[in-house]
Amino acid sequence: MAISHLQPVVILLVLSAFASLPTQAAARGGHDPLDDGAHEPFSRKLLEDKPPQITEEMVRGYMSNAELEAAVHAFGSRCSNISRVYRDNTNLLSALERWVIEISDKPRQREAEPAFKFIGNVHGDEPVGREVLMHLANWLCDNYLKDSLATLIVENMHLHILPTMNPDGFALRWRGNANNIDLNRDFPDQFFSVNNDIDYRQPETRAIMNWVKQEHFTASASLHGGALVANYPWDGTRDTSKHYYGCPDDKTFRHMASVYSRSHYNMSLSKEFEGGITNGALWYPIYGGMQDWNYIHGGCFELTLEISDTKWPKADELPVIWEHNRMSMLNLLTTLIKSGVHGRIFAADTGRPIPGSVMIKGIDSKVSASSTFGDYHRIVVPGETYEVVASMEGFQQKSTRIMLEQEAVNLDFILDPDGTDGQMKLPRNDGGCHCDNAKLFHVQEAHLWLYLLIVSVLLTLYLVFKRKTASRLASKLLAYRYSSLRRPVAV
Ligand SMILES: [Zn+2]
Repeated sequence: MAISHLQPVVILLVLSAFASLPTQAAARGGHDPLDDGAHEPFSRKLLEDKPPQITEEMVRGYMSNAELEAAVHAFGSRCSNISRVYRDNTNLLSALERWVIEISDKPRQREAEPAFKFIGNVHGDEPVGREVLMHLANWLCDNYLKDSLATLIVENMHLHILPTMNPDGFALRWRGNANNIDLNRDFPDQFFSVNNDIDYRQPETRAIMNWVKQEHFTASASLHGGALVANYPWDGTRDTSKHYYGCPDDKTFRHMASVYSRSHYNMSLSKEFEGGITNGALWYPIYGGMQDWNYIHGGCFELTLEISDTKWPKADELPVIWEHNRMSMLNLLTTLIKSGVHGRIFAADTGRPIPGSVMIKGIDSKVSASSTFGDYHRIVVPGETYEVVASMEGFQQKSTRIMLEQEAVNLDFILDPDGTDGQMKLPRNDGGCHCDNAKLFHVQEAHLWLYLLIVSVLLTLYLVFKRKTASRLASKLLAYRYSSLRRPVAV
């Protein structure tokens, strides 16, 4: 009996262990067989058959591949408190290696936080992204605990930066990889799947596909040059004609692209693209692009960002281009933290997190919860009401309605196994907290008293009805503990 009385306490301790764990997306080119070459004038820079010769003068001041590798490792040494540097598993034709910088306050741990990836230099002849990404990494390191945005990003998400996806193409000073294949045409395509076997992809592509399956990316962006615009899915159309073709999350993508464009020095002032954003298929359709594949197969909301009108601006302009893109990058990252719906999915019978999925009613797409913590991160446009639906095979689906203001909402689900009749839904809407530290304290304090009261009541109920309701009640207690002590999203 003594042991059974301890059961809720043990479960609470287990829950509290979960609760104490820190909370946790081309220009677009190569030869396209569907490309008849009849593109609008504004796309010509990206699709020139014979791009201008890249001269030594143009390259001067840009990091070579060896210098970039050294810069990545120097960053890793200098900023080891908030980063780790890891090699991706691509076996390039050359002896070059690709390195990733992960930035987080706990870079070597899995956390129930959103993850974002930035990929630069997809096209070998578009080197601005790799330079700007090193500026971003160093800026975050230099400003952590000094700047509120830097601190917010480091402490509330995992940022993965692959400065160059295509070092061979960069060394060869051309668009494709060593096989002269355009990597942004090499991903399995939703409309024209000639061969979608991952083994037949280029090594650079294959590595990205495996990476997306290993990491639980919420969103991402690849960086390109030759235009100034934030491009979003879909990139292609079923009939190959050039027209607006939005994906199920069109509104969300327009929102994300606009966050980037409006935060940029002059992207939103574009005369070619209204608001500095464009649907890929409306600009010019491409097939086999990385962006659409990420969204379809990884649940990862990826943008394709054209961040420089010219592909090889003079190297002394790079710091200025970084400054023009700095707030765009920071605001895009913080969108994952400060807005949207976040939470975890638990099994009612065991209290354990489960890798279910979350849908928004009316939007035909789903995001998955992680297998480690059951956490999900769903970007949606603020200021609207959504019905959020959580599901998992073998469990009963549950849904709840939320009003999403400008702040993020925490919403946890406890799913009952199939065959049970309980209605254990405990979604909570913490509503985020757009407030200063004092108010934040009061909110947390209020949550603590509320929590203690609820725990007392539930423990009493447990003792009275333990035989009948033991496992369900424990799950509730766990959920209350997690959600009530969870730090509100700080805006
Ligand atoms: Zn490109």
